[in-house]
Order: sequence, then C-alpha cells, then structure tokens
Amino acid sequence: MQTLSNESVSTTSSALMAPALELPANRIGRQNRCTVAETVSFTGTGIHTAGATTLRIHPAAPGTGLILQSTSPSLGIIPISPLSVTETAQAVTLSNGSWKVHTVEHVLCAMAVAGITDAILELDGTEIPILDGAAGELYRGIMAAGVQESDVAVEPIRLSAPVWVVKDDKYLVAIPADDFRVTYTIDFPHPELKGKTYHGLLNSEIMEQEILEARTFGFLKDVEELRKRGLGMGASLENAVVLTDTGYLNDDLRYPDECLRHKVLDLIGDLYLLGRPLMAHIIAFRAGHALDVALGRNIIANLSGDELAGRRN
Ligand SMILES: [Zn+2]
Repeated sequence: MQTLSNESVSTTSSALMAPALELPANRIGRQNRCTVAETVSFTGTGIHTAGATTLRIHPAAPGTGLILQSTSPSLGIIPISPLSVTETAQAVTLSNGSWKVHTVEHVLCAMAVAGITDAILELDGTEIPILDGAAGELYRGIMAAGVQESDVAVEPIRLSAPVWVVKDDKYLVAIPADDFRVTYTIDFPHPELKGKTYHGLLNSEIMEQEILEARTFGFLKDVEELRKRGLGMGASLENAVVLTDTGYLNDDLRYPDECLRHKVLDLIGDLYLLGRPLMAHIIAFRAGHALDVALGRNIIANLSGDELAGRRN
C-alpha cells in the first residue's frame, strides 16, 4: 500500500483518500476493515489430499467477513468461523455439509497479519494449496495485490474474563489484555522439541519477522501411519520440516526453533477463524488445532451480542 506524506496528501489529487494508518503496535492486523485491492491467486498442491488446487482471494465490501466459495455453484459457500470447523486432525477443515475445505490455517494467518477482514476465498478443490508449508508466500502475494483499507474501524475482540480449554495434560488459556501476547510451550518426545517455549508480544511487524516463514512439520516415524489415514499425501521436504528420531531430515531450517514458531503460526491462523484481532495473552501448553478451535468457540460463547457484532459497549 502506498503511504503518502502529509505534504503530498494536501497537494495532490489523492487528498480525498483517507491517509494510510499506522499498523497497531499492540496487536496483529490493522485499525480499519480491509480487503485485497485486487484478486490474487495461488496454485499448488494440498499437503493432505495431494490434489492441485487454485485459491483466488477476491475483494469484498467492508462487513462481508471472510467467506469460502466453491467454483462449483452447487457446493455453495462456507462462512469462515470456528463454528464451521468439522475436523481438526493434522489441519483445520471447514464444511457446510456438502463441501469440505481442508488446511485453512496458513492462509488465515497470512490474512490476519495483512489485516484482511473482508474477502471471498474462491477455491476449485477441497484443500488450500500448501505452497512452501508456511504463510510467508501467501502473505507476500496478498501484500503484492495490495491492501484496500476502508474507513470502517475494526473492533478487536476484548475478553471480560479468562477463557480456557483443557484436555488431558494440554491446555490453552486466553487472559484479557490490552495487547496480544503468546506464551507457547511445546513438549514433544524429541530432543529439539522438548519443553521449548516461545514468548512475546505479537503484532504484524513481529509476525512478519519471526513467525510467517516457519514451515509445517511432521515426524518421519508417523508418515506411514498418516498416509494410511489419507493424511500428508502431498507432504515433502519442499513443504515441511521432517523430524527424525534425534534431528531433522532438512538441512535448511529457517529458524533454529522453526517447529515451535510454526505452532504459533497455526495458533494465529486458527484464532483468525474469529475474523477479528483478539486482545489477550494466550498461554498454550501442548496445544494444537483441536484446542485452538475449541478456544475460539468458547470465546464466541463468552461474547455478548454487541461484542459479537464488533460494537463497543
Ligand atoms: Zn500449520
């Protein structure tokens, strides 16, 4: 997006445009509702289905929200929401009963960071292309298409009390806050992934620098079992970090703790099923898609009607 100085705003024909607002320092996203300036498309393989698909992100009016739309009119649309989620094994799947869309979390993370609140995501298949396994390529494509900012403010979701999900020894807690922070601990039985914690304030700038390029990951020992279940069919060293019993198959890690950062990426994408930034300190211990989506649903259940509609009380 072009940023105009005060001088150029007052002396050019762009004077009627709203000046570009700064990105908030205290949270991910933008101050106002935004869409893509023009349609942007991504073509690639689905990591689980291995099918080739094309995703087109089209502009939409402020207040539309984020909507999945099939190129087959009979399959209809799916509103992007925690309430549309039907499966969380390995990836997040949304469905309207007649159409399923797998692996929505990475494009949602890219849209959260770009601040896109309104768009039609048109898909010609059943899975969002995995591309390089991270969200950076999706984010850069969206930013290259341009972000069209409206004059309608985005009201972040504010919590009046902590909201949490606990399952066995895993938990995910959202504590009310004036900014957005994540404290994320993974604890896999692997020397590189045992008891590692990421902690920090996250906004769009920090996400771009620290999180967006972290690729998805899997354990080599699980590949056969996953493929028996029809999962991970399109996974490769091109789009995933693969863990051996003691190290990595890849020799090109993008961050020393890339897998931990990818868990944060997934969390941000899953929480953006809510369609608005969240003001909270998220504390995650061994969380994943199932807990992320359950937390999103609990947050919806705890919001008043006014808050759900994005209005201030
Ligand atoms: Zn992921």
